[in-house]
Amino acid sequence: MSKRIVVLSEEVANQIAAGEVVEKPASIVKELVENSIDAGARDIRVELTKGGCQSIRIVDNGSGIEREDVALVFERHATSKISKLDDIYYVGSFGFRGEAMASIASVARVEMLTRRPDDPEGTKAVAEAGCISEISPAGTPAGTQITVTELFANVPARRKFLKTEATEQSACLDAITRLALAHPEVRFVVTANGRELFAAPAARDVSERVAMVMGNDFTGHCLAISGQQENVRIKGFISTPEFTKSNSKSIFLFVNSRFIRDNSMTHAALAAYRQVIEPRRYPAAVLFIDLPGEEVDINVHPAKLEVRFRNSREIYDLVSKTVAHRLASAQTSQDACAYRLTPRETTSASSGFWRPKESYASSERPHEVFSRQNLRQVIDDDLFARAGCPSDVPVRVEEISCGGKITFANRKYLGQVADTYLVFGGPNGVMMVDQHAAHERIILERLKAAAGGKVISQPLLMPEVVSLTPAQISLFEGAMSLLSDIGLDLEIFGRDAIVVKALPASLPHVPPVDVISDLADQLGDGQVWPSLVERKEKILASLACRAAIKANVVLSAEEVAALCRDLENTPFNKTCPHGRPISVQFSLYEIERMFKRK
Ligand code: ADP
Ligand code: MG
Repeated sequence: MSKRIVVLSEEVANQIAAGEVVEKPASIVKELVENSIDAGARDIRVELTKGGCQSIRIVDNGSGIEREDVALVFERHATSKISKLDDIYYVGSFGFRGEAMASIASVARVEMLTRRPDDPEGTKAVAEAGCISEISPAGTPAGTQITVTELFANVPARRKFLKTEATEQSACLDAITRLALAHPEVRFVVTANGRELFAAPAARDVSERVAMVMGNDFTGHCLAISGQQENVRIKGFISTPEFTKSNSKSIFLFVNSRFIRDNSMTHAALAAYRQVIEPRRYPAAVLFIDLPGEEVDINVHPAKLEVRFRNSREIYDLVSKTVAHRLASAQTSQDACAYRLTPRETTSASSGFWRPKESYASSERPHEVFSRQNLRQVIDDDLFARAGCPSDVPVRVEEISCGGKITFANRKYLGQVADTYLVFGGPNGVMMVDQHAAHERIILERLKAAAGGKVISQPLLMPEVVSLTPAQISLFEGAMSLLSDIGLDLEIFGRDAIVVKALPASLPHVPPVDVISDLADQLGDGQVWPSLVERKEKILASLACRAAIKANVVLSAEEVAALCRDLENTPFNKTCPHGRPISVQFSLYEIERMFKRK
């Protein structure tokens, strides 16, 4: 089976390299906009058609390219940004590998119009399937306009990996958001299918830009941070603990103005929040780390999305300490929103920005604390009454579970441990129930039980306007019918807001802004679901998670009794929607073993 060794043709080599750089429309948008920023552009316009799958056009007012150099743009390893290896450590530009344009041209048709401001005439160039087919003089405004079409037309296998237009469009907007955050001085306009989606005028500073692109909800709940250790500086904005997300995608890290992904630094930021937010909820943050070029290697990833730090331990500590100190000082000064970002002008009534500040303490103990005796009595009466036994008569029951489901018959409620686990004693041992997991399952099954698989919705007394980022709006656009099937009546309002008119009837009260924020996280998770049913279930599970009683909440006697009753009547009541157990049992035998009686 051995084959002869051959050197790959340049065309094939470029296509393979393109696999690393050009994965989807968003990667093209990223590379082209980075080139525009490197060319000194102050005004960048991005036009997407069909989520960038049909065409992507980037228009900039940067330096333009000399006609003699135009052919080189499409050559691999052709760059105006470095000339020797050492330069890459000190380069202030995004590019230096000279790969992007060649890679894009190898998998798409690229048309370029460019003119340097002082040249009387510009140049038009067309490259397709890796070859330049035309270079000619052309009249064009100063700057560069690049249009990419026929993406992956010559590599159909790759075209199949493209996701829905809404998902690709949202990914393009995410890429632009990251670049816009790091370059407040540049004006960005994004259109999709001819409609303006996003506009960020040149901002005075990062804080103004953060206010423009992160959405009003974040800007109403954020703290400015800054810290320094030796020659490493960190600055940015972090969310207050009451503003949380269902994943860590709203943590943006920039190293020397370059957006990066770094699990360790994300972890450093999360570590500071561990004590102040619930498990499985995440903060939002925009963090800029600045350090001398020789301290960081930016050439370890083809799309330069990952970097390697020389002293990663020190930087980890600096990030986690700076974030932790800021959270602590905000808490002690009772000044959670000491630093308010300038809001962007918005046509929609903003739900996040003007929301009154809540103190951390307010949500800690929302329920009255019952005395132990009182609590026990009420529960016992309730549970035993249902079991048909007076509570003072000892009972013997052999069965712990009935038909594979949890039952509370003949169990005595003993109290709460860690304000999270409900403890029940019975003749056969001890059972602990996770109050959040239990409630999650109850709500999910109620949501699903609605007739014909379509969840019944309940109109809000007052429709609520929730502000979102344009990337999030794109995701909602592609999911409106799915969301209406699960009982959400929504309407897109302008380019940065959504009106919530109705929520699923069986969803306990959750502020509409929280529902929308979680849905945006869900819709943007980039996963491809094998079926619509599965996708709906996932969304319902996230709503249930948000609406369920939290851990660390003291429950009243009535609440525990109601929870037990509901749980008994709920199918699949042994595990929560994420598959974790709702109850844990210690049989009498196990207990006796632990005491060495057996
Ligand atoms: P790199 O950015 O790593 O240098 P690219 O393949 O992205 O490599 O681009 C190749 C070269 O094309 C750049 O070095 C730059 O000189 C030129 N170029 C690309 N896009 C633009 C633009 N929008 N304006 C001016 N020059 C550009
Ligand atoms: Mg480049």
